[in-house]
Amino acid sequence: MTSATLLEAHCLCKASKCSITVSNESLPFPTHLCHCSICRHTHGTLCVFHAPIPSPAVDLTSFTAYASSKNVTRYFCSTCGTHMLDHAKGDDQWHVACSVVEGPETLWKFSDHYNVGGTKDGGLSRWLSKVDGRIMKKWTNSPVDPESEAGDWKDPTTPASSGPSEEKLHAYCHCKGVEFYIARPSGDVGGDLPPTLTSSDKTKWYASIDICASCRLAFGCAICQWAFPTISHITLADGSPYRRVFGTLKEYHSSPGVSRTFCGRCGAVCAFHADARPKMIDIAVGLLDAKSGARAEDWLEWRTHKFSFGEDIVFERLVDSLKLGLKDWACGKVGPDFNPSW
Ligand SMILES: [Zn+2]
Ligand SMILES: [Zn+2]
Ligand SMILES: [Zn+2]
Repeated sequence: MTSATLLEAHCLCKASKCSITVSNESLPFPTHLCHCSICRHTHGTLCVFHAPIPSPAVDLTSFTAYASSKNVTRYFCSTCGTHMLDHAKGDDQWHVACSVVEGPETLWKFSDHYNVGGTKDGGLSRWLSKVDGRIMKKWTNSPVDPESEAGDWKDPTTPASSGPSEEKLHAYCHCKGVEFYIARPSGDVGGDLPPTLTSSDKTKWYASIDICASCRLAFGCAICQWAFPTISHITLADGSPYRRVFGTLKEYHSSPGVSRTFCGRCGAVCAFHADARPKMIDIAVGLLDAKSGARAEDWLEWRTHKFSFGEDIVFERLVDSLKLGLKDWACGKVGPDFNPSW
């Protein structure tokens, strides 16, 4: 007789839930990190942690279904936007965004980075080459592509961009119901940003990695990223100034004085607004489409010595591996003496 485990998952607002019954022999779940542009622009993150699962028990009435391709439908909470499940028609295969499942991180075996090629710069895979000391296989595409094989992606040794950077940074969700442009910082940024979120490079915006529990659920991803421009430097696709809700955006107040926005059609996380910081905004990095690559390094200065809200760590071993990867990356940029204290 095989014993089974019941896994429960819920979204940020808890209106959407599902449960998954798995045989204990199938644990830990092989889990891949997908870096494809669909995953980046539907979640708003640099990649998505996906595990194939047996059919879940789920009442889909609280979800919005989004057909992100001919074969795949993604399901996110209609109230708060958390992406939880996707289903491929062809082979009737479900995947869960493993970051929303309750339980220890030992449920998951992080093994592969898929579709890294489209990131140009390696995206998050550059910071997570190993997990628990185990090398993560990096695929330019994915196992279904005969042209691609495990380990065939090689991180570029020079920046991916050629020629001058774009004048404005284009940002959009997968369905393009949300679209805007970010300009470079200019002289008037000064007092609009708190010192901790101000880049030392005056041509770039600051960006950080967030591993707090609320963002993990909002994005449906264990490792999230925010960029911190001022609102005055963002314009909408029609040239009008940025507003909190526009296009297909929906708003969810996750706590007093805080609003999170996401696309009501494709579910992409767009922004985090805090009433206490009216002149700036946190923008989901997965929406960005920089010439230089997914990390938008010619636009963003990444904070490599600290995570946002590190006290809420759930995926502790994963985060420990990320710290090592970030340190290695930063040493290559700022010199071998870089020694973050965390
Ligand atoms: Zn919800
Ligand atoms: Zn993907
Ligand atoms: Zn959208």
